[in-house]
Amino acid sequence: MSFPLPPNATIGIIGGGQLGRMSAMAAARLGYRCHILTPEDDSPAAQVAHTVIIADYEDANALRAFAAAVDVITFEFENISADGLSLLEHLKPVRPSPAVLRISQCRIAEKTFLNQTGIATAPWRAVASEAELDASIAAIDLPAVLKTTRFGYDGKGQALLRTADDAARAFAELGGGPLILEGFVDFVQEISVIVARGADGTIAAFDTVENRHRDHILDLTLAPAPIADAIAAEARHIARRIAEGLSLIGLLAVEMFVDSRGKVLVNELAPRPHNSGHWTIDACPASQFELHIRAVAGLPLHPAIRHSDAVMKNLIGPEEAALWPEILATPGLIPHLYGKAEARPGRKMGHVTRLFPHGALPGAFGIATALGPLAADGALPD
Ligand code: AMP
Repeated sequence: MSFPLPPNATIGIIGGGQLGRMSAMAAARLGYRCHILTPEDDSPAAQVAHTVIIADYEDANALRAFAAAVDVITFEFENISADGLSLLEHLKPVRPSPAVLRISQCRIAEKTFLNQTGIATAPWRAVASEAELDASIAAIDLPAVLKTTRFGYDGKGQALLRTADDAARAFAELGGGPLILEGFVDFVQEISVIVARGADGTIAAFDTVENRHRDHILDLTLAPAPIADAIAAEARHIARRIAEGLSLIGLLAVEMFVDSRGKVLVNELAPRPHNSGHWTIDACPASQFELHIRAVAGLPLHPAIRHSDAVMKNLIGPEEAALWPEILATPGLIPHLYGKAEARPGRKMGHVTRLFPHGALPGAFGIATALGPLAADGALPD
């Protein structure tokens, strides 16, 4: 089948979480079917998709059967192995390309690519031994953050080094390598930009947003980010340059720090829909999920227009999931639940969006008031 995919074509999504669920819902609206590959029974994505294969991501027979059943392959979970990726890319188009995945899967490859593209990051060194860690500390200075190069998320696989005494313990705790040491960024804000790029090179970048974390997990996204216009524009410019540098076909989230001098440093790339873009479902004519599907299916990209300001609040763990009845009873809160059977601590169960007229995002007190029952949970901006 050739691009653009016609209605009723099948999009294969690797991963069964909420990002796959919301991608499949956007795909259904555009007339496509989704086929999900996930090891999980009763996954959030499979609940709303056409078909599902329940298998391990490394199961070669399952990957072959999955590829045979779809017209294009994309993902919402990017830690599939290099072998799995090579198998898939020989069978069906994979968008974004495995080359993009290989960069984003490894913090060293990612930072090397960014710096070669002229994009600023925290200073960093690859660390394969304790001796290299000592040399890297001498070069970068403390405090610094030691991270595993792969499979880190929500603050897992990283340790803050305050003094030289922390080094040996952190090295042992993180499994001994391969690791990366990054200079600690004394950031004033964490921001992100979601950018889509089509096969024809068209780029659409959503507005820069601010992300507030609690216990290393995204808690609130404010759209647009309450920052100087020049910084917001710089962040979007950086995201566009990265999408172009990667020859991306698909969607990419760029997580960035703003330091005390207003400099923008890139922290991480995710070549898929991202939690910090969930507000786009309610505040934009075409959401991050729709742009993801449009890019992957070879449709024209819709511009990343925002008709409203928005606050997105994640519903995390059993305490916030328990607020569901109050959320439903509060006018103006737009509810999204992911269909997960069990609310474990730290697990993202759903999210809520609150819209404001364009240009009217309130300050901390107004946001707290607008979040109603969720504000009582302590989830307030400073
Ligand atoms: P990451 O897994 O790289 O996204 O990091 C998770 C969180 O840890 C980030 O959102 C930051 O809040 C914090 N963090 C990560 N790297 C650094 C750094 N180099 N300097 C300061 N904070 C960091």
